[in-house]
Amino acid sequence: MNTIKPFDYPIHITRPVLPDLNKVFKKLREIWESKWLTNMGDQHKALELKLLQYLKTKYLSLFCNGTLALELAIEALKLTGEVITTPFTFPATVNSLYRSNITPIFCDIKLNDLNIDEDGIEDLISPKTSGIMPVHVFGNPCEVEKLERIAKKNNLKVIYDAAHCFGVEYKDIGIGNFGDISMFSFHATKIFHTIEGGALTYNNSELKEDLNLLKNFGIKNENEVILPGTNAKMNELQAAIGLLSLTLVKKEIEMRKNLTSIYQENLKDIEGIKYLDKKKEVKHNYQYFPILIDESKFNFNRDYVYEYLKKFNIFSRRYFYPLCTEYRFSKKKANCRIPNANKIVNQVLCLPLYGELKREEIEKICAILISTLKI
Ligand SMILES: *Cc1c(COP(=O)(O)O)cnc(C)c1O
Repeated sequence: MNTIKPFDYPIHITRPVLPDLNKVFKKLREIWESKWLTNMGDQHKALELKLLQYLKTKYLSLFCNGTLALELAIEALKLTGEVITTPFTFPATVNSLYRSNITPIFCDIKLNDLNIDEDGIEDLISPKTSGIMPVHVFGNPCEVEKLERIAKKNNLKVIYDAAHCFGVEYKDIGIGNFGDISMFSFHATKIFHTIEGGALTYNNSELKEDLNLLKNFGIKNENEVILPGTNAKMNELQAAIGLLSLTLVKKEIEMRKNLTSIYQENLKDIEGIKYLDKKKEVKHNYQYFPILIDESKFNFNRDYVYEYLKKFNIFSRRYFYPLCTEYRFSKKKANCRIPNANKIVNQVLCLPLYGELKREEIEKICAILISTLKI
């Protein structure tokens, strides 16, 4: 019989990093006095500069969210036809392709890091392929060097979905420097946020002007509208929240790093539970704590554990579930072979992780998880 009591308050998968409310009021006053609420004002300019430094990238553009940023990245690079991507991602990645009239071609993932299997890409290239859209899943960088070689050799563009990668570095290089464009999401659930928001980073200076036009109706000047752009601008309030939450990121990452090691310590000897290894030469951001539950060894499957935790007021997340190939509008090719993704999608569970989580709470979450074995 299990004697552990449920939490008497809900433990959610994450909590947003919230700046001090007095500082928010001060910022609001600044904005009110300027009477400039959107359209690339002072807050927007300041945030762009700060993020360029933080992410160590060459160029950066801000957007009202990460998904629209991704759609405009596709448009700016003029991708068409087919793009090779992963089925193990958030809907935004693949939907942005569909919305651009591009057919996603699904490549399997690797079991060690859950990222696209770069060795499977070249077999999927057709005369219609214009690009590759890999995702740095859970902040673990893809094999960026190999991907660059494949892209160069086959004359393909690369857009990284780096939504999980704020502050991640590979060999001391900001992760947003790889590929043609990288997309960062600043949604409230991400480690750095602007409530809703996103950015693109890139090395080609010519993209700056194109992206500015695309996110602002294609307006070149008072007399000319030169392309059918949309409205995807980040406003001044979003940018101000970003400036304030940026000052909290370093500490948040530090706290999550410590909490991650408490999880790892508590789960390390449990047969059938695995967590992802930290990659070499990577500065991680600890945005999530995913575990893999192998039913054949743990005796219970992931969905059972997910429901079991709920009974104790713990809300974990089956992140990413279902696979993109399972969406009812998905255009899965008959020969789509993704055995690893099909396996992993039923094993991954993200456990609660946020800076304010306490050591005792994690120890209790782990004890509850392990207690399934004693039922
Ligand atoms: C959060 C997320 C997005 C979407 O970002 P929004 O800013 O919410 O539009 C895209 N891809 C992945 C992998 C994400 O986790």
